[in-house]
Amino acid sequence: MKEGIHPQVEAVTVYCACGNEIKTFSSRSDIRASLCSQCHPFYTGANKFVDTAGRIDKFKKKYNVKA
Ligand SMILES: [Zn+2]
Repeated sequence: MKEGIHPQVEAVTVYCACGNEIKTFSSRSDIRASLCSQCHPFYTGANKFVDTAGRIDKFKKKYNVKA
């Protein structure tokens, strides 16, 4: 590897909003995430919508969808 052209990669911790911490390697410092593999609906299989801005409710209202 050439000296001086590569970003410094170091062990960092990703902190998720669910409280999970993931150790990884990155050129960034510690990372905060709102979703991780432990709490993302895709992995948990839970039927949970990631709807922080209430967009689903807005959509339902607009098109008169009965939940
Ligand atoms: Zn998480």
